Amino acid sequence: MKITDLKCTILGENPVIRITTDEGIDGYGQAENSKPYLRPHVLFYKPYILGADPTNVESVMLRIRNMGGFKPWGSAVSAIEMALWDIAGKAAGVPVYKLLGGKVRDTVRVYNGGVRFPMGGHSPQDYADNMVKMKASPEKFSIIKQPVGFHSAMPHQVPDFTFGEVRETRFHSTRGLLTERGLKHVVACVEAMKSVLGDEVGLALDCGPGWMVPDAIRLAKALEHLHIMWLEDLLTGDYTPYVNADVYREATRSSSTPIHTGEQIYLRQNFKELIEKHAVNIIGPDPADIGGLAELKWVAEYADLHGILMAPHGVFDGLIGLAGLVQVCATLPANFIAFEYPIARPDWWYSIIEGLPNPIVENGQIRVWDTPGLGVRFNIEAAKRYLPEGDEDFFD
Ligand SMILES: [Mg+2]
Repeated sequence: MKITDLKCTILGENPVIRITTDEGIDGYGQAENSKPYLRPHVLFYKPYILGADPTNVESVMLRIRNMGGFKPWGSAVSAIEMALWDIAGKAAGVPVYKLLGGKVRDTVRVYNGGVRFPMGGHSPQDYADNMVKMKASPEKFSIIKQPVGFHSAMPHQVPDFTFGEVRETRFHSTRGLLTERGLKHVVACVEAMKSVLGDEVGLALDCGPGWMVPDAIRLAKALEHLHIMWLEDLLTGDYTPYVNADVYREATRSSSTPIHTGEQIYLRQNFKELIEKHAVNIIGPDPADIGGLAELKWVAEYADLHGILMAPHGVFDGLIGLAGLVQVCATLPANFIAFEYPIARPDWWYSIIEGLPNPIVENGQIRVWDTPGLGVRFNIEAAKRYLPEGDEDFFD
C-alpha cells in the first residue's frame, strides 16, 4: 500500500487531515481547535510521506517526527500519526487498540474539562454555584477540572491578586508571586467547590502556568486536606516550550497533593527528565501534541515503570481526536486515571461524524467500540456543507 495524498482542511475550528492510498483506504486525523493556521504546516510534510506504506506507521513517522516541536508545532505530526493508525486498522480490519497491544479495559474514564456553564463571577460562591451545574450534567463525570489562578480570570477579576504584571495576551502569559490575598482567594474558591462535590466527585485544578515555586508549595500544602485530584501546570504548561523538571520536583516533593503537567510536551525524549526525576506525580500528554497515539502509549508505559500516573489532555481534540483517545487509553496500564473529554466545536460536528456511542459518555465513562481503524467516519454529504471555500474536493 502506498500513500497517494495528504490533505488538510479546517472544519469549523479544527484542522482535519486526510491521507489517501492507492488501495482506496483513507485515514483521518485531527488537531486541536483554534489552530486554523496549521494548514500549511500540515502540507509541509506531504512530500516526505508520499509513496510510503502507511501501514508501517513507525517507518513513516521516522520521515517526519524530527520536524515537529512543542505545542503547537507537534500537532501536524501527531494528526498524521493518528491518520496512519486509522489506515493501518482499516487495512487489517481491526480497531486501532489491537495494533497498540490490545485493550485492557472495555470502558475508559473521562474527566470533564470542556462541559462548561457560564460563571456568574469569580467569588467562592460563584465557583460553588458553577460546580453544582457541572455535578448535575448528564455525563455524570467522576472527575471535574476547573481553572483557577493564572489559568482563570482571577488575576483580572480579583484586586491585588499578584505582584506580577497582569498580561492581556492569550495563552496564560502572566507570571508572578501571588499576594497573600490572592492565594487566600484561590484556597477559598477550592474549598467552596469541594463543599459541593464532597467525596463523590474528584476535583482537579488547572492552575497556570506562571506560579512561583514558594506559592506552588503553599497552595499544594494548603489544599492537602481537600484530597484534590491534581494541580495542573503550576509552573510550566500550555504553550511553554520547555519542561523545567528540576523546578517541578521541588514543588512535587513538598506535599501530598499530586502535581501534574505535560500537555504541551512533544515526544518521549522530552518526558524523560520529568519521569526519571519523579518531578511530577501525574503527566497529561495530549495525543494531538505529543506526536501521536503510539508516542502517548510509550510514555504511559515508561511513566508506569516510575510510579507516575496518566491523565491525558484532550479537550480541544474534536471527535476524531476523541476516537484516538479512546483507542489508546483502552490500552494503557493501570496508571491511567482518565482522559480529558473533548467537546465538539461547533455543535454541528456531532451531525457529521458517525460511529460514536449515543450517548457518548455514560456514568463518566466511554464504552470502547470495535470498528476497524479509529472507528469513526464522516457522513460525507453532511460534512461537505461545512468545507471552506477552495477545499470542496477534500473528500474526493
Ligand atoms: Mg491544562
